[in-house]
Amino acid sequence: MHEIALHNISYAYGNQRILENISFTAAAGEFVCLLGPSGCGKSTLLRLLAGLSQPSAGALTLDGRPISGPGLDRGVVFQDYSLFPWMTAGQNVVLALEQAFPGRAKAEQRETAQEYLEMVGLGTVFNKLPGALSGGMRQRAAIARAFAINSPVLLMDEPFGALDAITRARLQDLLIQLWQQNAAERKTVFFVTHDVEEAILLASRVVVMGLNPGSVRGVFTVDIPRPRQRQELFGNSAFVALRDRLISELHADVLDELDDGRTIRTEGEGI
Ligand code: ADP
Repeated sequence: MHEIALHNISYAYGNQRILENISFTAAAGEFVCLLGPSGCGKSTLLRLLAGLSQPSAGALTLDGRPISGPGLDRGVVFQDYSLFPWMTAGQNVVLALEQAFPGRAKAEQRETAQEYLEMVGLGTVFNKLPGALSGGMRQRAAIARAFAINSPVLLMDEPFGALDAITRARLQDLLIQLWQQNAAERKTVFFVTHDVEEAILLASRVVVMGLNPGSVRGVFTVDIPRPRQRQELFGNSAFVALRDRLISELHADVLDELDDGRTIRTEGEGI
């Protein structure tokens, strides 16, 4: 069981309220997408789940135990900075393996690292530095590392956000394939995105977040059988209905702000 529960989570930077009263439980093996507009606190929430910061109020638990700091029970993949740039792709994976399985022989660690790099189609890059790899390859290596340490929970913060559409689609498919591989030990995943279609393609459930302060607007089950074929999805009536629903939830936020009489300004626009 790898259930993650958020109990009335609030978070503030100084007196700026970022997250307010967030409650949600992800069942073991669920793939949860956190969907919301930029600035609604998705990354902040993921950092709380990672144990990198602590909530101002409320509690987070993994299998009923409080999350009080980072741990190897939660693998993390961020959009950038996922790999140490001064270590090769292979060394990055080996380092994580050494932390997760300290007693193992060096040769075994290298072998396992190579195995996981091969699993994500990176069999030839063990000795390459991240700087010599494309963005897509770096994220593959980060995924290989997250799966190699075999943590029951995976936290992903817009991991494909900086990639071109084709690479992104490939990595989405790869991620789902890896996640589905072992039904008995399926990871509980929290995946941050602001892309409605990505959320529906990947998620078992979508948590839609709203702004000012960040809160849960609604939780939606994605009732579309897997494998979800990208080409067929756009003609699927359940997909279309859910996409429309999620888009209107996201836009509702902006409409609420207009109702409040608050000014909406785009970034960089002068006062
Ligand atoms: P999202 O991931 O949904 O785009 P974030 O969690 O990154 O949102 O940010 C939520 C809010 O917290 C934003 O208003 C952002 O400006 C603010 N914020 C993020 N990091 C900091 C920080 N280190 N100090 C102060 N405010 C921050």
